[in-house]
Amino acid sequence: MPELPEVEITARLIGAACAGARIESALTPGVNALKTFDPPFSALEGATVAGVRRRGKLFLVELDGDLTALIHLMSAGRLQLFETRASLRDRTSRMLIRLDGGRELRLREFGTRQRAWVKLLRTPEVEAEETLAALGPEAWPDPPPLRGLLAAPRPLYALLRDQHVIAGIGRSWVDEILHTARLSPFKRGVEVTDEEADRLRAAIGERLGGAIDHYERAIALPIPDKLPMPLTVHRRNGEPCPRCGERLEAVFYEDYVMCYCPACQTDGKVLKDRRLSRLLK
Ligand SMILES: [Zn+2]
Repeated sequence: MPELPEVEITARLIGAACAGARIESALTPGVNALKTFDPPFSALEGATVAGVRRRGKLFLVELDGDLTALIHLMSAGRLQLFETRASLRDRTSRMLIRLDGGRELRLREFGTRQRAWVKLLRTPEVEAEETLAALGPEAWPDPPPLRGLLAAPRPLYALLRDQHVIAGIGRSWVDEILHTARLSPFKRGVEVTDEEADRLRAAIGERLGGAIDHYERAIALPIPDKLPMPLTVHRRNGEPCPRCGERLEAVFYEDYVMCYCPACQTDGKVLKDRRLSRLLK
């Protein structure tokens, strides 16, 4: 599932490569991939790409002539830039933007569900778009002071993944950040001390920034279908903790898993009770 670091590196690489490119044609072959109808997607034809930005886990492909394409990868999407054109029979394609010179910007989705989406907006209306307007402050490059943001009786694991609270963190990086901060995923936001909030803020910057630095070295266009995340705790249950060597534990949910180190994070307590899992939703 792409989170802030994956979206950031993609926006940087594609933005640098596409700036100044002219759009020849624009299609959305995915079922319900295009969530807006005015302006029509064909309005992109003839426009020039000004750049690509990230906000939270979303992309903004900015065009001259006052248009912006807002793209959400959801759980299994990928934005890729190819040197050649796709077969229209590529069943993973949700959006195809053909550029001059034969290149193609493609939104593809790997998985059974078609949930990735695109909205074509007039640039002055972008900030008011409902998904963007509801986002909390950016988790990176300058994580916000957390004490006020987290002042709720919900567990840190849920608060940090809530895009309305702080934008960019999901199920993979939250495990890493809480492990780095040595905080229990079950600790309530209101119970976090000033010192813990500072530790958490530093951990957010360190882990997200570290991931982006890693991708700067490891990732290149067209952007791979599978993007191996430099994770040390998430989905490593059963393996030794990279800090203390204790066995990493997990709580299993219907379609994902939360991993933590009992020694580093929960005073030695192993928490995998299903009733407790439900409380975290
Ligand atoms: Zn540990």
